Amino acid sequence: MVDEKAVQKAVASIITAIGEDPAREGLADTPKRVAEMYTELFAGISMDPIAELKKGYELGHREMVILKDIPFYSMCEHHLLPFFGVVHIGYIPDISGRVVGISNFGRIVEIFARRPQIQERMTTQIADAIVEGLQPQGVGVVIQAEHLCMVMRGVKKPGTNIITSAIRGSFRKNAASRAEFFSLIQNGK
Ligand code: ZN
Repeated sequence: MVDEKAVQKAVASIITAIGEDPAREGLADTPKRVAEMYTELFAGISMDPIAELKKGYELGHREMVILKDIPFYSMCEHHLLPFFGVVHIGYIPDISGRVVGISNFGRIVEIFARRPQIQERMTTQIADAIVEGLQPQGVGVVIQAEHLCMVMRGVKKPGTNIITSAIRGSFRKNAASRAEFFSLIQNGK
């Protein structure tokens, strides 16, 4: 749980430290607003993604399932600035054909995004959670994202995407499955 009182105090200190006036009209309520916002943006810290995958699954689908362009917004843990983009997930269900709905995957993505994050870890965490919660034969996760800590500070040009991927199980062992996954997430864009 986010300690909103502590965040308020800290934000007021930052406002003073950067040479601004925390009592100025536009800034007076900023510590309170930021604290409330952090409660929302960091809600994923105390949530369990595995529980989300274990509820409401259905059986009987044995072919590859692709979920493309799941939007997300996260906070880079190095600078506490947003990074955002889309997540693509592909998996081949276990032999009983266990699958969950698109909303469950959206929740998984949100639980991992609403934490101080780095894109690489978020990618592997989503893949590993799907392995643990659904025990599919294989899973692949690709994240394409833009990082404000790069574009705002002029390190990279705006619009530059960072792409990360994690593959597990049969996607790692079987080149055909892996190729099918990468081709399906690229097509139909
Ligand atoms: Zn950063």
